[in-house]
Amino acid sequence: MPFSAEFRCIAGCPGAFPLDQVIYRCPRCGDLLEVVHDLAALRERSAAEWKRLFAERWGTANADEPWGSGVWGKHEWVAPQLAQANIVSMREGATHLTPIPRFAADLGLGDVRVKQCGTSHSGSFKDLGMTVLVSMVKQMVANGQQLRAVACASTGDTSAALAAYAAAAQLRSVVILPRGKISTAQLVQPLAAGALVLAIDTDFDGCMRLVQELADKDGVYLANSMNSLRLEGQKTVAIELAQQLGWTVPDWIVIPGGNLGNVSALGAGFELLLALGLVTKRPRICVAQAAHASPLYASYQAGFAELVPVKAKTTLASAIQIGSPVSFKKAVRALRAFDGVVEIASEAELADASAHADRDGLFTCPHTGVALAALTKLAARGEVTRDHRVVVISTASGLKFADFKVGYHEARLTDVPSPRYRNVPVELPERYDAVRDALNRGLDAPATGVRD
Ligand SMILES: *Cc1c(COP(=O)(O)O)cnc(C)c1O
Ligand SMILES: [Zn+2]
Repeated sequence: MPFSAEFRCIAGCPGAFPLDQVIYRCPRCGDLLEVVHDLAALRERSAAEWKRLFAERWGTANADEPWGSGVWGKHEWVAPQLAQANIVSMREGATHLTPIPRFAADLGLGDVRVKQCGTSHSGSFKDLGMTVLVSMVKQMVANGQQLRAVACASTGDTSAALAAYAAAAQLRSVVILPRGKISTAQLVQPLAAGALVLAIDTDFDGCMRLVQELADKDGVYLANSMNSLRLEGQKTVAIELAQQLGWTVPDWIVIPGGNLGNVSALGAGFELLLALGLVTKRPRICVAQAAHASPLYASYQAGFAELVPVKAKTTLASAIQIGSPVSFKKAVRALRAFDGVVEIASEAELADASAHADRDGLFTCPHTGVALAALTKLAARGEVTRDHRVVVISTASGLKFADFKVGYHEARLTDVPSPRYRNVPVELPERYDAVRDALNRGLDAPATGVRD
């Protein structure tokens, strides 16, 4: 294949490293690495040819080929030197871009859609990156490299994705979790896939420090988003949504951020689209953080001042309860390049926004709620208007967060004392007249919690 990509230092140090080398940081300055593609080779195909190829592959049915995957349909832009035989795919990506007209109208907005990245094999966008990382590990092992296992620290979704893809590739996986801080569904996913699960009495940031030490000293391969292979898969979200909008870009994209790998990936995806001429406009990007874990917001307010790590407080948006984001610098670079803003959401705001968008038929996770709450604020301030086309990145399936959903509607969440979109069952005896009366009362009244 004529296409190629390699690791380089984000601070611009000389030197490049092959994607199958075990390396996570620049050996000269210690900064993060990023994957850089040979643009000249990619430019040998015209934008029109790429569009045609991506259209042909989208959703193709052949079970023995990975091209129907949203990630592997973009193989040449993701990991061109990865052999097809080593691809470990669960048909991730190619997710729906769902309009939420009721939510949009309530905010005084026009075209608002949700990119449903949680509609995926393990129920979160983490699959997009993990298919690339695990495939690369499979190739490394096939080429004779010795790796004991693939390991990650996780707030839940990374470990679920890692465990599933490693199991599919017949590799051992180790996940390091903050004990008692992730949802039951998220804990049981890696257990079910046979991962070695280490539950530690600390928070996510503590788990991250431990797994880095294991990667340095104990022969395990690090699967956190510090490993920029994952971002190559995650960046296909940008390519997909441009493709779904007829190779145009939205005016605004709102994305929840914790460790800040995903917003960095989104930026990288748009940079590649622009460099290869598939789109010509830059979207604006809003990163949404939980107010309880908002070090990027603090930096943004001080003109993107240097990161001051914080001790993240407990939030319903548990996957973004991160006080020391690894990809901070990459995120700031993306925000500067895409005229970005940062917003925060309180616990009540994120819970109400999540339930609000569910009224359009979604089943949103609390992190998507953070993004939807941020959009609500941008609309209230007039920064996003009716003329803007908006895409909200949904990061996980609400099905992983059943306790959050039930707690909201039963008004049992401590930080959300008066849930605005609460809906509870009407309990009745087995009598026709009682059921009919309840039906009439229920259908005459406006649906619970919906304003005006
Ligand atoms: C990982 C995750 C995020 C945050 O992504 P980052 O790359 O860490 O910013 C948001 N939502 C969900 C559901 C996640 O699993
Ligand atoms: Zn460097």
